[in-house]
Amino acid sequence: MIVTRFAPSPTGYLHIGGARTALFNWLLARQSGGKFILRIEDTDVKRNTPTAAQQVVDDLKWLGLNWDEGPEVDGPNGPYHQSERRDIYDKYIGQLLDEGNAYHCFETPEELALIREEAAKQKKTYNYTRPEVFPTADDVENARLQGRPVVVRFAVPDGDIVINDVVRGEVTFRAGEIGDFIIQKSDGFPTYHMAVVIDDELMGVTHVIRGQEHLMNTPGHQALQDALGFRRPVYAHMSVTVSEGGGKLSKRERPKTLRMSIKGRGQVDTQKLADVGGITVEEFESFTKGQSVPDMPAIDAIAKHLGVKLPEINVVDFASGGYLPETMVNFMGLLGWSTSDDREIMALEEQLECFDLTRLAKSNSLFDRKKLMAFNTEHMRMVGSEKLLEHFKRYIELKKSPVASGDDEILNRILLACAGARTLAEIEAKTRFLFFADDAIEYDEKAVNKVLMKNDGLGVLAEVRKRLAALDDVTAEAIENILRTLAEELSVGLGKVAQPLRVAICGNTISPPIFDSVDMLGMNNTLKRIDITLEKFSK
Ligand code: GLU
Repeated sequence: MIVTRFAPSPTGYLHIGGARTALFNWLLARQSGGKFILRIEDTDVKRNTPTAAQQVVDDLKWLGLNWDEGPEVDGPNGPYHQSERRDIYDKYIGQLLDEGNAYHCFETPEELALIREEAAKQKKTYNYTRPEVFPTADDVENARLQGRPVVVRFAVPDGDIVINDVVRGEVTFRAGEIGDFIIQKSDGFPTYHMAVVIDDELMGVTHVIRGQEHLMNTPGHQALQDALGFRRPVYAHMSVTVSEGGGKLSKRERPKTLRMSIKGRGQVDTQKLADVGGITVEEFESFTKGQSVPDMPAIDAIAKHLGVKLPEINVVDFASGGYLPETMVNFMGLLGWSTSDDREIMALEEQLECFDLTRLAKSNSLFDRKKLMAFNTEHMRMVGSEKLLEHFKRYIELKKSPVASGDDEILNRILLACAGARTLAEIEAKTRFLFFADDAIEYDEKAVNKVLMKNDGLGVLAEVRKRLAALDDVTAEAIENILRTLAEELSVGLGKVAQPLRVAICGNTISPPIFDSVDMLGMNNTLKRIDITLEKFSK
């Protein structure tokens, strides 16, 4: 049976790269009736953020990538948080020490820095020099008493290490290229390398699909597996996804965009912005100087306050941009992977049918945002009304939109009237006007100037009002009739009579088709809004 896993380190939001890794592992397991495990790799205590693990769980659920073992599900191989598995790691680290395959070291960071500097001076790659005789238990005890940091290193066996990667074929690492690396840190936690190797074995993982950045870790992992008598999973290292600006698509793009925008403003109110982000002024200044990056929620809050649009990178960014999970799964599935006949728009079932591990690309893939938008437009059409309503409801809740006060009936009418929209965000923006009080419409200045204050827009609006008020039977056809007749009488296009009405009822020029808009708003409210508008702008 194929067993795969997704093993995120909860250091921030789940970004597109991570989600793609999860997707491919999920596809491989699901298409073969195998098992997909979610494991939280939280042994780097300093880098973990408290909400990140939960966010990953929520994001995976949104994408529809369910797991058979892991947080919230449990299973026979738990716990699934590495921070809760320390006794397991200790046992194997003990085994390596006992068998002479690992040894203790006690250098201080300063001493290690010196050794590194020396190596750099001699233009040698830095490798820890293995002692002739490994420290004894007494040495370790003494070092501890002296307050030295005690770590454990793996004694990497001599000789070349050849790994067999599905994407890259055989990759050889020369003897000495991999130095003795740390497997247990001074805080007692295993390093990522140790924990990942042990857990993959104990959880029966057969296939590991992960990012290319882990390729150089694999020889070390393989050497550890051999030393411990573990099985070797099949490895597939995916190529990098680059952003349109060039460079690897990275979560750093968001803080960077914000930093540049703040810099471009010259003087800013540091105290205010720090408060908005919930960080200290020192943290804020360190961020603008490029010395550190605060947590993502702080970045998001400051950007929102300044009205800076940050590039979408994290799964939550796309959810909040009004993309469908179906779109994301389809689109991510084509980053560094393709079908033999270059099919693009696919439903999940189709993706499951044709996923083939051996078709992972060696070359980098481009994160093409225009294409993503086109995919979304297509999936909005494809998902069907029931699913679309479900997605839209989740979206307006997430955005705390006034539209969320609508019942299913009105929401369904909205979705129908907005058929062809590119994102849920577009639909929300177009229909919020339905949920404002008549006297609380936010008028877009440009729209008012262009539509109402020119070409007798207000006069046309007054005439439209008179005719609408005289209607006995309010139907979309009747409204259409009135507007068309008036346009003909005035020898102008339909837009010239429809747009003033649109601005009056929704404050801007982007509402759904005007007949639908009036119909959904209702005649009473329509007339009231026209009156308010006439009164407000006639002065
Ligand atoms: N925790 C590692 C990461 O987030 C997992 C790497 C792996 O799949 O082995 O990058």
